[in-house]
Amino acid sequence: MDCVKSSTVLHWNYRGFTKFPIEHLRGEEDDVTDIYLKENLISRVPNDIGKLRNLESLYLTGNDITELPREISQLQRLKCLDVSGNRLRGVPDEIGELRELKFLILDENELRELPLRMSELRSLRYLSVCDNKLQWLPQRPIYNYFHCEFRFWRNPGLKTIPYSLWYHMFREQQTRSLNIGSLNITENRQVSNNMTCRLTIHQECREYEIDINCPPQHKNIVETGRYSPPSLFELTKRIAYQMILTTVKQYTTNFNIYSDRNNYYLDSKSNALANLEKTFDTLAIDNNVETCYDFNKYQEPGICQYSYKKSERRNYYVPKDIIEMFYTFLPYFIKIELSNGPISKCDNAYCKKPIFDYLIYEFCIEKIILIDSSEDVILNANFCSKSCADFWKLGKQNIISWRLLNQ
Ligand SMILES: [Zn+2]
Repeated sequence: MDCVKSSTVLHWNYRGFTKFPIEHLRGEEDDVTDIYLKENLISRVPNDIGKLRNLESLYLTGNDITELPREISQLQRLKCLDVSGNRLRGVPDEIGELRELKFLILDENELRELPLRMSELRSLRYLSVCDNKLQWLPQRPIYNYFHCEFRFWRNPGLKTIPYSLWYHMFREQQTRSLNIGSLNITENRQVSNNMTCRLTIHQECREYEIDINCPPQHKNIVETGRYSPPSLFELTKRIAYQMILTTVKQYTTNFNIYSDRNNYYLDSKSNALANLEKTFDTLAIDNNVETCYDFNKYQEPGICQYSYKKSERRNYYVPKDIIEMFYTFLPYFIKIELSNGPISKCDNAYCKKPIFDYLIYEFCIEKIILIDSSEDVILNANFCSKSCADFWKLGKQNIISWRLLNQ
């Protein structure tokens, strides 16, 4: 018999709370759907926030929060998270696991970067990161530019935006001023511990330099003029990740077709997966982890059968899910790298290879069309190889020359 679900909306704005009042909810955690905790004095979100399993909206505007716990990912029903007007310095990568999240408001914080896994939020309709200290944007901050409004105005530390973001969001479209620090050179130079690219820009008979501090994930940046090939490890990760993406696509499609079944059939295309595991088997790597399926269960050549419990079903899959399900045979450190995903993918539209830590940058200047003027903005493009970078540069004007400061 279905029981009628009660829902509780808690209006706790302006109450002077100094702690997130989760203990007030003891025994009633499952009933809470909305919590308003605006303008209190809360400095942290508790690690056991995941107990509020049915929480759909969480409003924390105007508190004193500096970080969100990784456990926020356990709020699998969460649709709206508003943490604007706090002192957030980072957002955990696990935010990407909030499959239902539609609104994420992070305005007026101290964020310097956004997690790469943000683009896994496929339900997201609105993301706002205005008035922060962003230094860099992920190549793909949101999953779909048509379905999600993305705002990142007034981030004076943001010197460059990804080429693909400009291409999808601003090319040939009128917009408002971004008010980012793109060509603002009056600021003091700050060279960080990360890699720093010094750009030399020629504009209106003037030459000046801008330093761009790269995100910490970008460990192995190659200057354009140099040639040093990627490591075998890098190449292996790229290939493995592409195989994982194939499985993700296929599995997500199969889900839609056979959504009322417990068993799914992956066709011969996923043979790559079987072959990969066989290869690893011969290496006899012992991870002390049980594999989650039995390869002797081949029904016929080219078809493997996998069984899942109903509770494991999702409406879509991301690489991390697939790695956890199928790639248990991989060495742990590779699994972690693959689960975190590549830092970007090649901006050559004919290539799109995932890039882990071998990366070639190119920078160029493009225009953003405003209502009564236009604004120049520096774009960064990422490439898997020198040939991809050279191909992309053909026909591009305003390519900026640059060099690495800390080799
Ligand atoms: Zn490429």
